[in-house]
Amino acid sequence: MSNYDGFLTAISKLLPADQVRRDATSLETYGQDWSNLLSPNAKAILFPANTEQVSQILKLATEYKQTIVPSGGRTGLSGGAVATQGECVLSLEKINFIGPIDTLSQTVTVGAGAITQAVHEATAPHGLTWPVDFASKGSSQVGGNISTNAGGVRVLRYGSTRNWVLGLTAVTMDGTRHTLNGSLEKNNTGVDFKQMLIGSEGTLAVITEATLKLCPIPRSRLVFLFSLPDFASVVRLFQFARNKVKQISAFECMDEACFTVTCQHLNITPPLKEAAKGYVLLEVQNESFENSEAWLNEIFEKQLVTEGLMAQSEKEAETFWQIREGIAESVLAGHEVHQEDVSVPLANLGAFYAQIHSRYTQEYPHAEIYFFGHIGDGNLHIFIRKPKNLTKEAFIQMAHESDLKLFETLAKFEGSVSAEHGIGLLKRHAIHFSRTPAELAIFRQLKKIFDPLHLLNPGKIFEP
Ligand SMILES: Cc1cc2nc3c(=O)[nH]c(=O)nc-3n(C[C@H](O)[C@H](O)[C@H](O)COP(=O)(O)OP(=O)(O)OC[C@H]3O[C@@H](n4cnc5c(N)ncnc54)[C@H](O)[C@@H]3O)c2cc1C
Repeated sequence: MSNYDGFLTAISKLLPADQVRRDATSLETYGQDWSNLLSPNAKAILFPANTEQVSQILKLATEYKQTIVPSGGRTGLSGGAVATQGECVLSLEKINFIGPIDTLSQTVTVGAGAITQAVHEATAPHGLTWPVDFASKGSSQVGGNISTNAGGVRVLRYGSTRNWVLGLTAVTMDGTRHTLNGSLEKNNTGVDFKQMLIGSEGTLAVITEATLKLCPIPRSRLVFLFSLPDFASVVRLFQFARNKVKQISAFECMDEACFTVTCQHLNITPPLKEAAKGYVLLEVQNESFENSEAWLNEIFEKQLVTEGLMAQSEKEAETFWQIREGIAESVLAGHEVHQEDVSVPLANLGAFYAQIHSRYTQEYPHAEIYFFGHIGDGNLHIFIRKPKNLTKEAFIQMAHESDLKLFETLAKFEGSVSAEHGIGLLKRHAIHFSRTPAELAIFRQLKKIFDPLHLLNPGKIFEP
C-alpha cells in the first residue's frame, strides 16, 4: 500500500521546493505524452538535478511504495511516459549537461535530459554527429531515445539508437547506481546490461547519463523528391535504388493524404507539379551527381516514378525534409489520432500494404487514414484521425478492433506490432503478436529482479 503523504514529506526534505511541482498545469503537462489518448493522473512531478538525487528519490519511493514514471521529452507515441495511476513523474530535464566532445574516441557523455538536437548542435562544430534523428528531435531527450531504442530517418544507414550508445549510468529502484560499460567499444565480459536497458521503456531502471558514440558528418548529400503512380512502385523504386546507389542515407515514403495535409499545415507550396498516389524522399550521401545521372535516367525510363526533383540548394533540401518530417505533427494537429507503427520484412512489404490498405478503405471509408514511413527499414506508420461524429471511447474501441485485424495480418507477414515507438500502454494488448509466451515470461522475471515491488513505470509493456 503506497504511503504518498509520507513519501512527499520525505521528498520535501530531500529536494528544494523548485524541484517539486504539484500545480494542475504541471500535473497535466508532465503526466502526458504526444500520444494524447490517455488521461493523465499524476500526483507530483519531481525534477532531480543529478544521479545522486535520482538514487535518493528511488530509495524513498521503495521505502514508501510510491510508483514512479520516468519522463523525458514526452514525445513518445505509445503512452510510455503517461502517468495514469497516481504515479509521481520523475522528469530528467534538469540532468541535461553535454560534456566535452572526445574527438579521439569520437564520443560524448551527456545527461539523460539532454535534448537530442542540442547534442547534434554541440557535436557538429567537430565534424561529428549522433546519428539518431527524427522530427521530434527538438524536444525528445537522450534518455527517452535510449529507453525507446528510437529509430527515425537514419536507421537505413546507421541502425537504431542501440548501436550508438557505449555506456550508461542508471539507477534501480533500490537506489543502486550502476555504471555500465563506461566508454568501452569492446568489453566481452558477459551479458551486456546496458543493452537490456536500451528499449526497456523505463521499466527496469532510470537512465541518468549516457556515453554516446559519434560518427563523422557526411561530406555532402543529394536529396530527391519523387512522385509515384502507386505504392507498389515505392518498393520497386527502393529495390532499384539499393542496387545502384552505395550510400542511401534515407528512403522515406508518404501517401497523397500525408503530402497534402503537411504542405497545407506547414504552408509549403507543393514542389512537384502533379498530385500523385505516393511520394518518396531519397537521400544519398557522399555521392556526386555525375554518378547519379545514369540511374536517375533509368528510373524515368523504367517508369518507376512520374515526376522527380533533385534539391538544387540546401534550402530546397530542407524543404523536402520539412514535408517528410512534418507529417506526424500535421496529422496530429488539433486531432485525436490512433497511431500504428508496424514493420515487416522488406520482401513482404508490398503484399502486406496491398492487403491492409484495401481493408482500411473498405471498412473505414469515412475515416481519414494516413500511410507513411521509413520504407527502407520495412517500417510503415498508419495514422487514423478520430472522425468528428465518434466519441473518444467509441474511437478507441474502433481502433482496438481494427488493430486486432491488422496484427493478425502482420503475424502472417512475420512483422512487428511496434517498429520503433515501443509498447507503452497503448500497444500492450498486442505484444503477444510479436513476442512468444516464453520471451514474455523471461521479461517478467527480469522485471522482478530489477524492480521486485513493481514500482517503476508500472503497467508499461505488460500488465503487472
Ligand atoms: C512528430 C514526432 C515524430 C516522431 N518520429 C519518430 C521516429 O521517426 N522514430 C522514432 O523512433 N520515434 C519517433 N517519435 C517518437 C518519440 O519521439 C521517440 O520515441 C523518442 O525517443 C521519445 O523520447 P522522449 O524523450 O520524448 O521520451 P518520453 O516520451 O518522455 O518517454 C518514452 C519512454 O521512455 C521512458 N524514459 C524517458 N526517459 C527515461 C530515462 N531517463 N530513463 C528511463 N526511462 C526513460 C519513459 O518512461 C517512456 O516509457 C516521434 C514523435 C513525434 C511527436
